[in-house]
Amino acid sequence: MRAACRAARPEQRRLGFVPTMGALHAGHISLVRAARQQCDAVAVSIFVNPTQFGPKEDFSKYPRSFERDRETLEAEGVAILFAPSTEEMYPPGATTFVAVEGLSEKLCGRSRPGHFRGVATVVAKLFNIVEPDCAFFGQKDAAQAAIIRRLVRDLDLDVEIVVCPIVREPDGLALSSRNAYLDSQQREQATVLYRSLMRVQTLADTGESDSARLIAAALEVFEQEPAVRLDYFEIVDRDTLDPVANTSQGALVAVAAFVGSTRLIDNIVLHGAG
Ligand code: AMP
Repeated sequence: MRAACRAARPEQRRLGFVPTMGALHAGHISLVRAARQQCDAVAVSIFVNPTQFGPKEDFSKYPRSFERDRETLEAEGVAILFAPSTEEMYPPGATTFVAVEGLSEKLCGRSRPGHFRGVATVVAKLFNIVEPDCAFFGQKDAAQAAIIRRLVRDLDLDVEIVVCPIVREPDGLALSSRNAYLDSQQREQATVLYRSLMRVQTLADTGESDSARLIAAALEVFEQEPAVRLDYFEIVDRDTLDPVANTSQGALVAVAAFVGSTRLIDNIVLHGAG
């Protein structure tokens, strides 16, 4: 893989990289297209990374559609596809991990202990293998994006991180490989995440900047959808992921909830007044 990536990037040519877990949808493809626009060649990885799943999570049943994904990527003009086995990525005796301390315990990290350690480790490994000039991530996973930016800064990695907007269904539901788990009733209930964020956006647009009041309004929206169990609804600083009491300097509004046993996440960014 390293040899192929080096060959795809002669002098002065930029290699873009899109790491994924496969089961590709239009959100992933938006990253591939951004990479195609901004770089001369694109590499994509498909690897369902076991170290970012908890023991009771959906690693074994995570959707896998390799042949379809491969064809999609070929049609999108992706030059290089990396789909390693677990054994290749984690040979016996692999005991080195990357921990972005402080950030990894926030938001999803609180309810998914070890998740961001797995993410940071596999992304660091993939960066070392691919050696991209530029790597593309989705705003959908806002905490992940903040953690990768910190990782790159703290470890002096020579990779430019580009974060692309969330791609949504017409009714607002953020595209996710896990949406495939939802039955038709759950699919309707799942829009509560987006509806709660839109309530916050509407209030913010009218001048409300008090986080407690914004969160209270979002929780009212969730109360109307009792089948959905909220994991967290938080308003935090975009870089530190620490809660902010007021959104006037801008903030990340992030939500996670269980629809049945499927855990979904979503977020919006409020831009500050200044
Ligand atoms: P995953 O395969 O879920 O690990 O996601 C791979 C990349 O695609 C990550 O950078 C995600 O943030 C990004 N991604 C997933 N869903 C979306 C979406 N709906 N819009 C934009 N990017 C997304």
